[in-house]
Amino acid sequence: MPWFLVDMNPCHCGNLAKFAKDPEIPIQFTNKSGSYFVYLTSTNQQKLSFCFVCGGHSAQREEPKCKCKQLRKWSDVRGSCIQHDAVLNEYHLVYGDRCRLFLYYCPKCGGRLPESKSNRVSGKSFKVERLKFEKKLERAKTLEQVIKVLGGPPDERDTDIRFDKKEKEIYGAKPVKELIRYTQIARTLNIVAQELEDGTLQIFYPMKSKS
Ligand SMILES: [Zn+2]
Ligand SMILES: [Zn+2]
Repeated sequence: MPWFLVDMNPCHCGNLAKFAKDPEIPIQFTNKSGSYFVYLTSTNQQKLSFCFVCGGHSAQREEPKCKCKQLRKWSDVRGSCIQHDAVLNEYHLVYGDRCRLFLYYCPKCGGRLPESKSNRVSGKSFKVERLKFEKKLERAKTLEQVIKVLGGPPDERDTDIRFDKKEKEIYGAKPVKELIRYTQIARTLNIVAQELEDGTLQIFYPMKSKS
C-alpha cells in the first residue's frame, strides 16, 4: 500500500461521529478538513487526531503510553472541557449538566492514558459484587421479580421517564416504561433495572463514583 493510502481514520469505534452529532458535546466534525475538533472553550478549538475512546485502533491491544503531555496542557486551559482528576489520575471531557466522558487514549498522539487509580483500587471488589448480583438476577424477567429477589423495595422508582428523542436517534435507545434503582444494597455499585415499553427487562450495574 502506498504510504498515502494508510488508514488515517481517527476513530474505529464510531463514538466520535456520535459525539459530533450530539449538540451538548463540544466536539465537531468539519467537512472541509475531514477532521474532528474539540472545543476546549468556545474560542479554543483543538484537532482530535485520535479518538479518545478507541485511540483509532480497530482492536484492543497494548498501545504505547502517551508521552506527549498534550492533554495536561488542554486541561490547564482556563474553563476547559477537558479536566484532569489528579486523585484518580483520570481525564474527563465534561459537558452539559455534570455529564462526562472518560478519556482512554490521548487525542493527540493516540497513546494509552494511564490506568485510573479508581479502577485499580475498587475494580476487583466491583467485579465480585457485579457477578454476585448478575447471578442472583439472571432469571428475573420483570421489575417485580427483581424486587422480590433483592428482598425489598428499591431506593428510587421512576415511572415518569422523559424519553429523550436525541438519545433515540443518536444512540438507538428504546423507550423506558419504568425504572427502579437500588443505591444502598451494594458497596461498589448501584443496580438499575428498567422495563422497556416492549416488555424487555434491562439491568445495569453502574459503579459507584466513590466507594
Ligand atoms: Zn473511536
Ligand atoms: Zn499523547
